[in-house]
Amino acid sequence: MSEVSPRRVEVYPGREVVVEFDPDLTFECVDDCTWCCHHGVLLYDRDLLELAQRANLAETTTDFRGEKFVTREAKDRDDHVAEDDHACAFLREDGLCSLHLEEGWKPTRCSVFPLAVWLENGDLHVDIRESAHDHCEGLNVSDRSVVDNLEAFLPELLWELENPDSDREL
Ligand code: SF4
Ligand code: SF4
Repeated sequence: MSEVSPRRVEVYPGREVVVEFDPDLTFECVDDCTWCCHHGVLLYDRDLLELAQRANLAETTTDFRGEKFVTREAKDRDDHVAEDDHACAFLREDGLCSLHLEEGWKPTRCSVFPLAVWLENGDLHVDIRESAHDHCEGLNVSDRSVVDNLEAFLPELLWELENPDSDREL
């Protein structure tokens, strides 16, 4: 596989990201694949404030290594669960996100998937998550270019964070 040279893309006015993935990559989330919702997502501070207006934090969030995450919980079903039968507290039986569906909102990290972001020498970098290559079914199955639609994956909040690194999950 040929190496892809990173390139800078302006996602919002004055907000650039260094793109590390193949610019030909396309993505469309696949119905019935809920793999990224089997994990507990990290909540940045602003997500926590937003979630507090929509859900009971005591029931739906947990602390791990000093950070807040959406709780994973045991689900009494065969579909849309991880191998340990757990999934995100907001993942419904039909595989849809109750937050997204009923509140029209979801945590920042849920938008970022299947991408990964991190800070390097003061620049925000973005690539495909290593694990997504094996598990995300939405890569290269449509004609929707990722690099041309980065604002759909990268909320502007990411540029304001001291530590946006997405390599943190429950
Ligand atoms: S909050 Fe919604 S989109 Fe995010 S992981 Fe949970 S079910 Fe999936
Ligand atoms: S793993 Fe990929 S295709 Fe599956 S639900 Fe997540 S983003 Fe969509």
